[in-house]
Amino acid sequence: MSLSNPLPFKQRVEQGLNDPFLRQSLKNAQARFREGKQRAAQILGNLEEWRTRAEAIRHHTIEHLDYYLDQFATNVENNGGTVFFAETEQEAVDYLIRLAKAKQAKTVIKSKSMVSEETHVNKRLEEIGVEAIESDLGEYIIQLAKEMPSHIIAPAIHKNRRQIAQLFAEVAGKELPEDTSALTRFARHQLRDKFLNADIGISGCNFAVAETGSIVLVSNEGNARLTTTLPKTHVVMMGMERIVPTWEDLDAVLSLLPRSATGQKITSYVTALTGPRRENDQDGPEEMHVIIVDNGRSNALGTEYQSILHCIRCGACLNVCPVYRHIGGHAYGGVYTGPVGAVLTPILEGFDEWEELPYASSLCGACTETCPVKIPLHDMLIDLRRDEVDEKRSPGVERFIFRLFGTAMNNPALYRLGLKMAKHLLKPFADDEGFLNKGPGPLKAWTEERDFPAPAKESFREWWQRAGRYGGDPDGR
Ligand code: SF4
Repeated sequence: MSLSNPLPFKQRVEQGLNDPFLRQSLKNAQARFREGKQRAAQILGNLEEWRTRAEAIRHHTIEHLDYYLDQFATNVENNGGTVFFAETEQEAVDYLIRLAKAKQAKTVIKSKSMVSEETHVNKRLEEIGVEAIESDLGEYIIQLAKEMPSHIIAPAIHKNRRQIAQLFAEVAGKELPEDTSALTRFARHQLRDKFLNADIGISGCNFAVAETGSIVLVSNEGNARLTTTLPKTHVVMMGMERIVPTWEDLDAVLSLLPRSATGQKITSYVTALTGPRRENDQDGPEEMHVIIVDNGRSNALGTEYQSILHCIRCGACLNVCPVYRHIGGHAYGGVYTGPVGAVLTPILEGFDEWEELPYASSLCGACTETCPVKIPLHDMLIDLRRDEVDEKRSPGVERFIFRLFGTAMNNPALYRLGLKMAKHLLKPFADDEGFLNKGPGPLKAWTEERDFPAPAKESFREWWQRAGRYGGDPDGR
């Protein structure tokens, strides 16, 4: 994975903040998704019990990932499929390229797959002259716009009807009405031929059931079924953590996924695929290849971050995050956006390109509270910040200030002196309400965006000496 937007983090954030359409549409979408989720939770009745059960399943699976991956791979092969374990992005895409060349593929149709975004499959296929077409409507829109998804379950959430009509008009070579039904009809018409003529279909995998070697896909558009059954070769690209041990376990996580994502009880289509077409089957692909991708996921195994692999990609944490609402998905710079992206991306890729991400959070904890598998996202963000400090990645000035603060906190005389000095030094910058809105030096950046409380005119200790002995009466009577 690499930065989808080469601008520095602060500029990406500025872009989001300065886009009023984006902010309004995210606000609306968040409200819609949140209300839907609340309604679905009420109908379910005992959401906390489901969350506890789903967390236990995910915990058990990831604790025994090697066992279940082995069981899954064996069953896929017993069903007639082929399994390839890719340690890196390069290995995953190289396998796909070899397959595309062997099949002399000209076109590939894709249903939604975050792993294929993560591994930049479309670009690599284009480099060898293979056309890759996204068939999920949202993915199709952002493919035409040459952008990355900005939301895990609603990739084109940042686009309005006018922008979509313009994108489709370029394909049509004529103006198209800004009407949702007409635009959807146009996309369907465009894609229908592509499904029929594609040499390879690539899908993601919402869950992989170890006990039978089955792939489970959830979608609302039906494109996943066409992608996985019409072309002669079907390739599944899945992160290695997508496993669930049994169908009974699937029931628990599948009950939570759509409810947490969109508030739906179930998506329009839930597709389970167990191997390629068998002798007497009416349809289905002749070959099924499953590429199981690590690409940095092992970095989390055995660490305090292991539970990020429990994620079921529902997007609920994005739907409650105030930071995501204001800056939008592209500000995160990678495929995974919002709170889950802020945690996952630096773990997959390291801090070099992603050191700002753990700071893209107000630490309000709404993400943790909503997560259906109880991943402690905001605690992890704090831990990642700590790791960055341990690696000395925080700015030198900041480290110096905190060292000074630490020394002062350990020495009462120094602390009192520091407080007195701060009170006098900062007094000229304080407004009538006791806030600094144009702080000096290192406070400048902070106070550009928000106010900082000025030191109190009278410290607690001073007040106590003056009034405490009179039972706390501030007038000392
Ligand atoms: S971290 Fe939790 S809430 Fe966020 S996408 Fe993953 S499962 Fe959903």
